[in-house]
Amino acid sequence: MKKTLLIFFAISALFSFDAIAQNGFCGMTIEEQLVIKERMMQNRANAANSVQVRTGVMWVPIQFHILEDNDGGNRVDAIKVIEMLCALNEDYLDQDIQFYMKDEFNMVQSTSVNANPNIGGANNNPFAQSVMVGEKVLGAINIFITKDIPGDFGQTLGFYSPTFDWLVLRRSVVSAPGVETLTHELGHFFTLPHPFLGWDGEPWDEDIHGNPAPINSPGGPKTELVNGSNCTFAADGFCDTKPNYLFGFSWANCNYTGNCLDPNGVEVASGVQEANYMAYFTGCASEFTPEQKAAIAADLDSRTSLHTTLDPDLTPFTETATQNFPIDGEETPLYNIVGFDWEPVAGATSYLVEIDRQPTFSFDPSLKFVSSGTYVEFEGVFDPNKTYYWRVKPLKEGNVCTGDVVSTSFKTGTVTGVREIKEVLNYTISPNPISAKESLNINIETNQAFDAVINVYNLSGQKIKEVNATFGHGTTNHQLSVSDLSEGMYIISIESENGVLTEKIVVTR
Ligand SMILES: [Zn+2]
Repeated sequence: MKKTLLIFFAISALFSFDAIAQNGFCGMTIEEQLVIKERMMQNRANAANSVQVRTGVMWVPIQFHILEDNDGGNRVDAIKVIEMLCALNEDYLDQDIQFYMKDEFNMVQSTSVNANPNIGGANNNPFAQSVMVGEKVLGAINIFITKDIPGDFGQTLGFYSPTFDWLVLRRSVVSAPGVETLTHELGHFFTLPHPFLGWDGEPWDEDIHGNPAPINSPGGPKTELVNGSNCTFAADGFCDTKPNYLFGFSWANCNYTGNCLDPNGVEVASGVQEANYMAYFTGCASEFTPEQKAAIAADLDSRTSLHTTLDPDLTPFTETATQNFPIDGEETPLYNIVGFDWEPVAGATSYLVEIDRQPTFSFDPSLKFVSSGTYVEFEGVFDPNKTYYWRVKPLKEGNVCTGDVVSTSFKTGTVTGVREIKEVLNYTISPNPISAKESLNINIETNQAFDAVINVYNLSGQKIKEVNATFGHGTTNHQLSVSDLSEGMYIISIESENGVLTEKIVVTR
């Protein structure tokens, strides 16, 4: 056992600490777990006096904070975060707990925090505290997703901070298949220690600790006995989580068969719960015990700031978003400002639009949430004359788990546009939507007269019509007939020597 572990450490040190990370280290210290254990014991005492009965599903808000480097790089892919949230909800469904995104992703730019979100301890990054405290929101579970989480044994997967009451996840574990990490860290958030509490970072090893195992764990707490006589206080304090002295560490499968004896000399292996979310058997986790669930429920009941009245529309989306422009490699009129247009999806309350150089959206994706309309512009993220990909996902509050993502390619043009005309103080283009029988009023207030060309483009970027206009000093109203336009969406582009104003309009019958 010892030899295996040493070799394991040596290989990891030589090549990558990720090997340990993938093996399932969470970054919570024994001291931090003793804090949550204390809270769990308090909740248990309180719950004994008042039986809480939950009626139906409780919807719990989560605020995701996505860290990125100062140049915008090294951030997690947003769609993976959503997929992880959906997988998380499957893990908590039998407890009538479901999580939803309180607000859109909070993008946090800091190379320093992205590389090290630890506050205190051996890997302290003092700068992280000022950033993260500033970003934390009330009334939600705060989850920070960072590139790295340095730990005592290389990178850790994630941790819950009892001091700051937030979770940190490493972006490499953000995926639906890897959701057991978040399920586990939320277990800590809701007061669950590791079932092997006290053996953290030092798995039982016959050569080091002896067999039978010692009465006290290396970290201090009592070693849990097979006969259950100390289960209410030893290790994690739960009686239905059986003795576990960190057997999952470096164990290769989901059936522990080691020869460990508890301090009374009783064989331990047959009781080990490899499937417990709070154990370290990587890839084996699928359940909480009833006592763990009771502790989660009691802690959630005590956290009234997380209680909401959300009653989400869970009807699945029956359609995907049809992308209008740009699609199938179409070239955009400008490259520095690119507008994206799609058809509304029945039931969607917002959309997530993502852009990247790679069709896998794994290079350096940019994203925007769009909560009104079905058009969005991205500015300053493109190079000219390059192929990009964009995709759109419909969302509903509390329900981000249905609605397929659709994706297409486009090519940026070579022309730079300026969003504003510098002489223009104010402008309105109305009505919008407009019936073909009406005239469009282009009302511009300017501090200097200028000549302009008013171009009308369809969503494929083709120019439909072109009109010359002069806007005098003060306020000028120019009427533009749309009787020659068929039903649909158009871009009105007012172009002068000093810049461009663009506006999307909808023409109806
Ligand atoms: Zn943990």
